[in-house]
Amino acid sequence: MNDCWGRTIDYLRISVTDRCNLRCVYCMPENGVVSLAHKDILTYEEIMRIVKVCAGLGIKKVKLTGGEPLVRKDLARLVSWLKAQEGIESVTLTTNGILLKSQLKELVSAGLDGVNISLDTLDPNAYKRITRQGDLETALAGLNAALSYAESLTVKVNCVPLGNDPDNLSAMAGLSKSLPVHVRFIEMMPMGLGQNFAFTGEDEILGILEKAYGKAQAFNEPLGNGPCHYYSFPGFCGKVGFISAMSHKFCSRCNRVRLSADGFLKTCLQYDSGCDLKALIRSDCDDPDLARAIIRAIDHKPKDHHFGQDSSDMKPANADKDETLSMFQIGG
Ligand code: SAM
Ligand code: SF4
Repeated sequence: MNDCWGRTIDYLRISVTDRCNLRCVYCMPENGVVSLAHKDILTYEEIMRIVKVCAGLGIKKVKLTGGEPLVRKDLARLVSWLKAQEGIESVTLTTNGILLKSQLKELVSAGLDGVNISLDTLDPNAYKRITRQGDLETALAGLNAALSYAESLTVKVNCVPLGNDPDNLSAMAGLSKSLPVHVRFIEMMPMGLGQNFAFTGEDEILGILEKAYGKAQAFNEPLGNGPCHYYSFPGFCGKVGFISAMSHKFCSRCNRVRLSADGFLKTCLQYDSGCDLKALIRSDCDDPDLARAIIRAIDHKPKDHHFGQDSSDMKPANADKDETLSMFQIGG
């Protein structure tokens, strides 16, 4: 399925909940979070109806996200349904890892293809400060559990650096020196609470890592669903990647849309452009109606983001209002 800019859209990020067991400072407020009512969250059956139609239109890859996806009951059931859906080639998960160890066996049996674990530091005190309530050891137990399935599961670590501390950045990248894991640095997006933090850019991080580990070689084979580009460091088991939406904008290659927990098909991170699919599927619409709505929304996907530029005159064609939701409500 192509949008009106000629981009092929084959990747759907599905948020299964807006609830989370952590409160990362750049993502979610510490207190006063008003969660969606259960009745407003798509059921697994409703998600599958949307995925079936999307698969018929060319979606091939699905990522489960949240909030924290593992706080939703029985996620393995959804994974196994998704894996059984014709046209869906890969089903992966992004998680903070806290509940991973206890659920991984079931998820792997259900056919999960990969897991991304969000981890911004290896310092237990800093981890507690960033997540406000997380325990680093528990998150690392999740990572180790995932690595024990490394033959059937792709394991990646996602790090959103808060600052440019060389020790922290080198320690994070160092995970992929000794372990079969790809570590990806994600630039902070100025959305919701993320607006309170500056991003640490790829070039600066790469410079720090080259000082610690030697010359990086660009690695040009794709290793996942999206816009991450990777480097090899001498002697490393895994690769080091960068998702640099701010410093190396990749909108022209964007292949994704997002389905929020309450059923909105969101076609760009920065704008509230898209379509309320929950309203449609809870009315009398049939699958061809649903397909038409999805095609129309994707066709109107905004051309690019204008984060970091002051003027709203920079808004591209098709962009609706700027998004006011935070990442935990969008799914990252
Ligand atoms: N709770 C799960 C997790 O942490 O992986 C899934 C949802 S979380 C919103 C998905 C990803 O978004 C995480 O890797 C998180 O670090 C990232 N994220 C949250 N706020 C962000 C921001 N302002 N800029 C960049 N990434 C952000
Ligand atoms: Fe929760 Fe993930 Fe947001 Fe952290 S980044 S608060 S773990 S949703």
